[in-house]
Amino acid sequence: SAALELLYEISREFASQLDLDALLAQILELNIDKIGAEFGSILILDDRGKVVEGALNREGEYRDHTLHQLAETFDKGLAGWVVRNREPALVGNTLEDERWLKREYELAQDIGKSAILVPIIEHDRVVGVITLIHSEENHFTEDDVDLLQAFADQAGLAIQNALFFKAEQGRRQFASTLQEIAKSINSSLDPSQVFPLVLDQLSRVIEYDSARIFVYEDDLLRLVAANGFDDDEVTEGITIPDDEESLMGQVLYRKRPLVIDDVQEVSGWVMSEDLKRSDEVRAWIGAPLLVRDQAVGLLTVSSSNPFTYGFLEVQVVDAFANQAATAVANAQLFSETQSARKRFTALFEDSIDPILITDLDGRLTDANVSAQNYLGHDALSLKDAQIEDLHHESSNENLPKFSEMEPGDAHSYVANLLHQAGGELPVEVHVKRMDVGDQPVLQWIMRDMSERQALDQLRADLTSMIFHDLRSPLGNIISSLEVMKTSIEEDDELLAPVISVAQRSSRRLSRLIDSLLDIGLLEKGKAVLFKTFIPLYVLLGEAVEEVIPTAEAKGHTLSIEDEKEIPKLEIDVDMIRRVLINLVENAVKFTPSGGKISIAIEDLGDRVQVRVKDTGAGIDAADQPRIFDKFARVERKGRTKGLGLGLAFCRLAIEAHGGEIWVESEPDHGSTFFFTLPV
Ligand code: ADP
Repeated sequence: SAALELLYEISREFASQLDLDALLAQILELNIDKIGAEFGSILILDDRGKVVEGALNREGEYRDHTLHQLAETFDKGLAGWVVRNREPALVGNTLEDERWLKREYELAQDIGKSAILVPIIEHDRVVGVITLIHSEENHFTEDDVDLLQAFADQAGLAIQNALFFKAEQGRRQFASTLQEIAKSINSSLDPSQVFPLVLDQLSRVIEYDSARIFVYEDDLLRLVAANGFDDDEVTEGITIPDDEESLMGQVLYRKRPLVIDDVQEVSGWVMSEDLKRSDEVRAWIGAPLLVRDQAVGLLTVSSSNPFTYGFLEVQVVDAFANQAATAVANAQLFSETQSARKRFTALFEDSIDPILITDLDGRLTDANVSAQNYLGHDALSLKDAQIEDLHHESSNENLPKFSEMEPGDAHSYVANLLHQAGGELPVEVHVKRMDVGDQPVLQWIMRDMSERQALDQLRADLTSMIFHDLRSPLGNIISSLEVMKTSIEEDDELLAPVISVAQRSSRRLSRLIDSLLDIGLLEKGKAVLFKTFIPLYVLLGEAVEEVIPTAEAKGHTLSIEDEKEIPKLEIDVDMIRRVLINLVENAVKFTPSGGKISIAIEDLGDRVQVRVKDTGAGIDAADQPRIFDKFARVERKGRTKGLGLGLAFCRLAIEAHGGEIWVESEPDHGSTFFFTLPV
């Protein structure tokens, strides 16, 4: 009947008790009362078999459990035996039982006691041990054991529930404190505001006597927040050896949390500055602050009781260290972003070129000072302006379809922009889509073209000056020389050669002027108008005639591979003659004395090809495409310098005739210039 009464009370009272400490106390009280014990204890184990809870009752009073003491009983005493064997134990005299851990006072008093121990098994797992003790020997019977075991079987579920509840409460507390920290991290970019909060919230989740956060600054660890010891005001950095010698060093070096049950027992670790007041520290946890897999600091907690911290506490400290690390990472990112921003703002603002920034719809978001000055606007009146409205309407068709531009796309176009005070600004615009973060922006860089336009005007003026002021007097000189030549004796040894030199020089001058004028016209796309049917070799003969005196002076041999069956071409005779003279003249000019120059004409069916081959210095591959550009000259020491206009004229003239011109050359093996003209 006692057993039934007891079981009834258990199921009634304990089922609703969710506070673990109160539950354990109740269980003990009831047992001591019903089974007639004087003293009892309960150990509760976690799922890895470690003692996590305990309750002691001595003469009807519940003492705050000393976990360490209970753990020792468990590890070395009979409770451990019960757990390992999963069966109860009945001890008539504790002094005579091997399995009983005899404490000093017991041995001193030399009095044996009787005890019963039963395992609490729930879902096939031993969750704890109940121990009852009586000071008389052989006080308990097998019946008492059975009763206690029946009781323990009933209590198991209640204990498990209370354990779950406690764990759940702990998790909730843990989650809410982490949430609190996360909130403050999000609202503050100053880690020094976050650190104290981390330590404060940590104290609500686990017990500690002291907690600290250290962060690296210039290779030194600096204490940035502390809770606990009053004099913990380290402001100077400390150096932590990166090795096994120091606990903090191990955490930082291995980038993993570390728990020490009792630092006093760790032999060989340096009692260095890493633990000031280290004599008061027994249990210790250190967890690294990791930012992008780099240890930037660490969080430590310590307790003056050894064996205080287990797996759970390490996880908690590690989670809080992560929060502190996030604060550090945020601050780092923020300052990096800010300095990058400053750099780019400076680049943008200090740029000499006017720069506008718009969104994809072409609405202005930024304009640098140069753009404001250039357009005559202030920042305010440019804000939200539409890019099209800054263009003269004549330029709008040049605008690219900017709203369809893809990231990285770029376009260049010329346009006239509008000055705020009226007037047009000729510019070349480079527009590029660049995405800042996930926000697409268009950057419009403008190059002022008014100077280039002025230059173009100057050239036009110069050209007309050449035409009128140089060309006609030169024409007069050339015809006068012609007259002079006919009026002297043919074998006049003094005058004839002099007049020839004067004639050649003036014709050269005339060709140069004509080519200059032609370049201007052909560049503008003017068509070749004065075309005549003529066989090319006729022109070739005339061209060679022109350069023979210079070639002979340099000791060159000039040969023409004749092919009389060349079809007639419809060409501007004067222009193509000048092209030929140019090429042969260059061959003579750029070939050292005693060279060989050969010219060939070949019928290719639909076109005629001309080759001018020399044995000169040749042209570097890199320079070959360039020499047909205006003012292109290849710099070489000791070379006659020309204007760099000859080949530019040749290209324009040949292309205007629908032909092609190119060069094949190997340095030191001469060059061959080719051109073709359509038949
Ligand atoms: P210029 O002769 O007035 O410099 P060109 O347009 O005729 O201008 O020639 C451009 C450049 O091409 C020359 O400066 C020279 O460096 C190179 N070049 C032209 N023809 C030859 C050649 N036959 N052999 C080597 N280099 C040549």
